[in-house]
Amino acid sequence: MCGIVGFVGRAQAAPILLDGLRRLEYRGYDSAGIAVEQAGEIRIVKTKGRIQCLADLTGEGQKVPGTLGIGHTRWATHGEPSDVNAHPHRSMSGKIAVVHNGIIENYVELREYLQKKGYVFVSDTDTEVVAHLIDYYYKGDLLKAMIKAVNRLEGSYALGVVCADCPDQFAAVRKASPLIVGLSEEGNFIASDVTALISHTKRVMYLEDDEIVLVGREGVRVYNMNEEEIEKEISEVTWNIDAAEKGGYEHFMLKEIMEQPTAIRETIRPRLKEGRVVLDDVCLTAEDLKGLRRIIITACGSAYHAGVVGKYVLEELTRIPVEVDLASEFRYRNPIVDDKTLVLIISQSGETADTLAALKEARRRGARTLSIVNVVGSAIAKESDDVIYTWAGPEIAVATTKAYSTQLIVLYLFALYAAGLLGTREEAELRRLAAELESLPDKIEALLPACKPEMQRLAAIHYGAENLFFIGRNLDYAAALEGSLKLKEISYIHSEAYAAGELKHGTISLIDQGRLVIALCCQNALFDKMRSNIREVKARGAVVMALASESHPDIRETADQAVLVPETDPLFMASMEVVPLQLFAYYVASANGCDIDKPRNLAKSVTVE
Ligand code: GLU
Repeated sequence: MCGIVGFVGRAQAAPILLDGLRRLEYRGYDSAGIAVEQAGEIRIVKTKGRIQCLADLTGEGQKVPGTLGIGHTRWATHGEPSDVNAHPHRSMSGKIAVVHNGIIENYVELREYLQKKGYVFVSDTDTEVVAHLIDYYYKGDLLKAMIKAVNRLEGSYALGVVCADCPDQFAAVRKASPLIVGLSEEGNFIASDVTALISHTKRVMYLEDDEIVLVGREGVRVYNMNEEEIEKEISEVTWNIDAAEKGGYEHFMLKEIMEQPTAIRETIRPRLKEGRVVLDDVCLTAEDLKGLRRIIITACGSAYHAGVVGKYVLEELTRIPVEVDLASEFRYRNPIVDDKTLVLIISQSGETADTLAALKEARRRGARTLSIVNVVGSAIAKESDDVIYTWAGPEIAVATTKAYSTQLIVLYLFALYAAGLLGTREEAELRRLAAELESLPDKIEALLPACKPEMQRLAAIHYGAENLFFIGRNLDYAAALEGSLKLKEISYIHSEAYAAGELKHGTISLIDQGRLVIALCCQNALFDKMRSNIREVKARGAVVMALASESHPDIRETADQAVLVPETDPLFMASMEVVPLQLFAYYVASANGCDIDKPRNLAKSVTVE
């Protein structure tokens, strides 16, 4: 999920690797390292913390001789940020060193297999299995060993592999994780991101899944899994550094919106085995769950809104009462919490001060705690009894998109898991829901290309709106809360999210001629109710932009503008509808010339009370 560089050429490798890693620094990371081959030995230097620490340890790379090497910045997913867990990882024989981006889903099984063969593991990472596995298959031919190892890997990976016996070339491969090859007169490169290469070369080769590349001093060869060499096209990168950092998008926020299918896939896939939810990281038993009187979800901002979605889904599937509370309120209201309460804590950074304090308060009162965080080894992760990580990767834009979306996913996974243990839903029904969940990333991927221009078009109509309303019922209301917050955060336009049935109890007095109302009608069972609410506001002059599922094109008869969202199970619909809402906020902010990635007065991780 973070950065890889590799180089072989005539120049000293370590300074080039450090320079490449520095160019990837903007992405965020927790540790860094390099492995350089020289005279049949691989030297590894790695450390937790900034790249500057690595630069200091190596004298800006000068102290590490050798002209072939790989480098890595890590964003931990398995095992906390530490010196030993930092990449590169070395095989027991010392022959192989590996850097890896992504997640090896079957690492537990592979680790057991390799331990039986006598391999000893030193880190907590999923990555270390790759080093030992290639070593296990290495009988003097790196390509063959790579093919055999890759055949056994499940999950997502971009790998750079150095072998002590190969002074002139190193290997790389990717699957569902970016990796490109760069070609130049001074030598040849790999990188997870063009930004690491751009100062050296603009000539690149894009790899397909499971194409193995041998990057040599004099040239580059690419092979398929049958060991056949394949011809690859060389392309010219036209981006400048600024565009390259954002993957060609104008802002990190847009890039991160577009990354949501991948982030969601990474979060779901390792937790679904043979159609069932498996949460290896959670120690809650059926007995523990049966003993619960209630669940309290506590969080701030968008994470709180994810919690509101979680309440609907958890109650529906587990029939345990769920309460959602703002972390800053929870801690000061003498909450009723005891050992029959499960407190779920949600935070992207895992360092949010209010949320951390709520977690401590819950523990003090004897509650069982489970956190949902994106940063491995963060304070909240360390303090709670159980953790389920969202594997969204680093998020740079202040306004969250992909982290929120993966929080929803973890809540769904937990709800399915708990329903399975409690027996509150039939096995067949749980399998159907798990299959539906598995198809979500593809559905969102399919939705994006058409949705993006459509929301841009609608934003061009509404960017001047003031004081608008988002309305919805049930899970649509939960999505409305997040849609409204996105718009406020980045466009500075005031909006309110209202439960559609509540409008008539007061707020409808604010509806006047031309007032924009965004009506979320994606819960099919409540579609007619929503249609009535739309009529109510239209009768008072509102202009209505509605979102409905594809099975309700008839929304066009009632709303002024309509966006149709692909269908999924109603329980997961918030995941679909939030995407157009994020895009709408983004394009409205863009039309108003706002500083989208760094909105005024806001910080990414709020570590003050
Ligand atoms: N899953 C690996 C780890 O936790 C790789 C993380 C990354 O992509 O940086 O070490």
